Amino acid sequence: MTSKRILDFLATERPEGPCLVVDLDIVRRNYQRLTKAFPATGIYYAVKANPAPQILKLLASLGCSFDTASVPEIEMALAAGATPDRISYGNTIKKERDIARAHTLGVSLFAVDCTEEVEKIARQAPGARVFCRVLTDGKGAEWPLSRKFGCDTEMAITVLEQAHGLGLDACGLSFHVGSQQCDLKAWDTAVGDARKVFAALGEKNINLSLLNLGGGFPARYLKDVPSTLAYAEAIQNALTRHFGNRLPATIIEPGRGMVGNAGVIKTEVVLIARKSDDDKTRWVYLDIGKFGGLAETMDEAIRYPIRTPRDGTATAPCVIAGPTCDSADVLYEKTPYPLPLSLEIGDALLIEATGAYTSTYASVAFNGFAPLPTYIVGREGNAARAA
Ligand SMILES: *Cc1c(COP(=O)(O)O)cnc(C)c1O
Repeated sequence: MTSKRILDFLATERPEGPCLVVDLDIVRRNYQRLTKAFPATGIYYAVKANPAPQILKLLASLGCSFDTASVPEIEMALAAGATPDRISYGNTIKKERDIARAHTLGVSLFAVDCTEEVEKIARQAPGARVFCRVLTDGKGAEWPLSRKFGCDTEMAITVLEQAHGLGLDACGLSFHVGSQQCDLKAWDTAVGDARKVFAALGEKNINLSLLNLGGGFPARYLKDVPSTLAYAEAIQNALTRHFGNRLPATIIEPGRGMVGNAGVIKTEVVLIARKSDDDKTRWVYLDIGKFGGLAETMDEAIRYPIRTPRDGTATAPCVIAGPTCDSADVLYEKTPYPLPLSLEIGDALLIEATGAYTSTYASVAFNGFAPLPTYIVGREGNAARAA
């Protein structure tokens, strides 16, 4: 699954230490696949998944919009060439002065999920468009987003009514069905809930026009995932089923689905050991772990494909751990990972489909380990190191 361009880069440049290499051509293909599958839907790339300037620049040049969570992310999208009307401030938790700053920068689309946040926006971004995020149960997602964001549908009605009353443009609703969502039915429930809020507010003469369908589109790790077209079809069916022929404008916010499969982490085996003479399970320690960018192995939620130079030979289960002195820095233990018996200290491994949620999750220098560097390859990339 690692692209030839990435393999060539690693073979010729031989970067020292763990690193992430992203192939921009794969990002381009992902974007084109999404626009083809969702021709009438606005595509807002979730910047947090991977904010490398070259990725943002490529997507901006292709016409993509951006879902941001902070003023620095807004500034990164602007620096990449996006105009403010193509930027959504999608975090429901914002300091009032950051709302003011976003407003000054020209951003006029904001997420909310409570009346307290609506008041801040009414004060600092008068007349802005706001959409209310509603809770979903996250069932079926490998990386569920729990109850931190969103409110229930009853409260969404109150929140948007209040926004309307304060002179904001109460434009719609959003939800996120959970990241790496492989259950196509997840959107149906959420769209059905949204329809109820549209109807209730319609009766109060507040006519919502936007439905933000969030992220959740998967990267392929070890198991097959449904195609982008299958997602588009399931979502279209849900929209028609609940909204009939009065379809709202829609946007999606892919993060993982845009960049996950475009990146590969190169790592090195530092140590292979056992805990006792009769221990069947080898412990394989890598030079990257949870604090170096593989935070999504928390609870072993995301199980990455790992390639070794000895693939095709006999394997046995291993515990895989990172290099730091924190005992939480273990990647896979509950479900050990099969690796070749012939694996040796010093072998270079490829951890595939690591383009999303890795470089930004690397700690600054826990135990002295440097943050994960990103290299960008591809026609526009020219093997440049991301700033
Ligand atoms: C993280 C996030 C996304 C991206 O989610 P993926 O599952 O990676 O596609 C989209 N929207 C919001 C509001 C987010 O916080």
